[in-house]
Amino acid sequence: MPLERIPTGMVVDTHIKRVTFRLGLTRETNPVKVERDLVKVIPQKEWVFAGHAIVWHGRRICHARKPDCDHCVLEDICPKHDAKEKK
Ligand code: SF4
Repeated sequence: MPLERIPTGMVVDTHIKRVTFRLGLTRETNPVKVERDLVKVIPQKEWVFAGHAIVWHGRRICHARKPDCDHCVLEDICPKHDAKEKK
């Protein structure tokens, strides 16, 4: 029987901190507190995928200095916390 791989937490790097803050998934800046918020709203089985997806979103679209909101699939639902003045 194969071992199930169950993640025990989410990685919170600079991209995940920035993107999830802008999306309104957290109001925290401390990585430990950000993780606490994210694991409440993202199902555990999706933690690994969500981490990779958010990092790539941060690298390709939701850039630190100038997020490309015009080409973002999340624009309709994103409150753009901390990003409006940087467009
Ligand atoms: S709409 Fe803009 S601020 Fe929101 S996730 Fe997309 S790129 Fe980032």
